[in-house]
Amino acid sequence: MLTLDFHPTGRHFLQIPGPSPVPDRILRAMSLPTIDHRGPEFAALGLKVLADIKKIFKTKQSVMIYPASGTGAWEAALVNTLSAGDHVLMYETGHFAALWQKLAARVGLKTEVMSDPGAEVWRHGVRADLIEERLKADSQHSIKAVCVVHNETSTGVTSNIAAVRKAINAAKHPALLLVDTISGLASADYKHDEWGVDVSISGSQKGLMLPPGISFNAVSSKALEASKNAKLPKAFWAWDEIIEMNKTGYWPSTPNTNLLYGLNEACDMLLEHGLDVVFARHQRWAEGVRAAVRAWGLQIQCADAAVYSPILTGVMTPEGVDADAVRKIIYERFDCSLGTGLGKVKGKMFRIGHLGDCNDLTLMAALSGCEMGLKLAGVKLAGSGVQAAMDHFSSHSAVMPLRKAA
Ligand SMILES: *Cc1c(COP(=O)(O)O)cnc(C)c1O
Repeated sequence: MLTLDFHPTGRHFLQIPGPSPVPDRILRAMSLPTIDHRGPEFAALGLKVLADIKKIFKTKQSVMIYPASGTGAWEAALVNTLSAGDHVLMYETGHFAALWQKLAARVGLKTEVMSDPGAEVWRHGVRADLIEERLKADSQHSIKAVCVVHNETSTGVTSNIAAVRKAINAAKHPALLLVDTISGLASADYKHDEWGVDVSISGSQKGLMLPPGISFNAVSSKALEASKNAKLPKAFWAWDEIIEMNKTGYWPSTPNTNLLYGLNEACDMLLEHGLDVVFARHQRWAEGVRAAVRAWGLQIQCADAAVYSPILTGVMTPEGVDADAVRKIIYERFDCSLGTGLGKVKGKMFRIGHLGDCNDLTLMAALSGCEMGLKLAGVKLAGSGVQAAMDHFSSHSAVMPLRKAA
């Protein structure tokens, strides 16, 4: 028997920043029978999700849906637009930006990593002015793409994508803008067309509230143009055949049918509530969680209030306290999973997710688990974060009424 067969009472608190808790409504939609992906019924599903996902990305252009995790869509964005040895400028905001750089190097690109030399490690968003300066110095236009992460899931720091586009335009530079919004999409505002993004990359298991297993490339006409001359090898990831087949609601290879049922349901839920309501909901939860962290007297990983993530909050543990030991206590004693510190911040912080299927009380439960676990780990807390979050949630009413008026 797998240990997965053991279930404690009540629901597990999956408070990691992805995979996020999946609403029951989506799980039920996914339990429908798998149908023939070449049959007549399938096209209606295909066309519906392809139309809906454009609304989520805020684009009128094509969106690829891959049966792959986000990493696959990272690779797809690069191999469709670039050639071996092309120079790409990649801004390191955290662990996911660093992993994307590693992948880019492995597919044969010449990567230039950029960060703010004066800033503390992984506590700030992208500085668009540094990108503008670097592009202005590249008078030969050797840089073919600028790669940035919209919501850095390893730290809880967002970046201003519109500012990056402005910087590229101000430098009068032709580089493509490639943006990872794997965890940002559907929880924080994202405007693929308006922000002039050439390829946006996303995944299913974060803001879209789905299990892992599908990922996306939203493209621009400039990216499609680049794909005609891009020489990196591509077959499975190639956009041209997918776009052609998608016209009729099908895919060249077998799509992830049951995850598409889930995507259909997720888009219905997000669009019924309204994206602005969804974004405001996450902002409010994030504010409640940050109120708790401040009351504990602990540091928030993001050092810049202008770019706090609405999706997750990074909590720094005091010097000498292993954040993973705290997480272990919270997991074992209170059945709550928190995100581990990744890469350069391993052991120094943990992450509380406020994405997916949440509400005030699930977050209060998670914060209670954190507060008890921190105390059990011997951390001296300045005050009660649980009380601070309760005060926040009770003094700021929900964005949308939870119940219809009688
Ligand atoms: C989750 C995540 C990834 C990796 O996606 P996988 O689905 O694990 O392959 C990349 N970038 C960001 C910002 C993420 O949050």
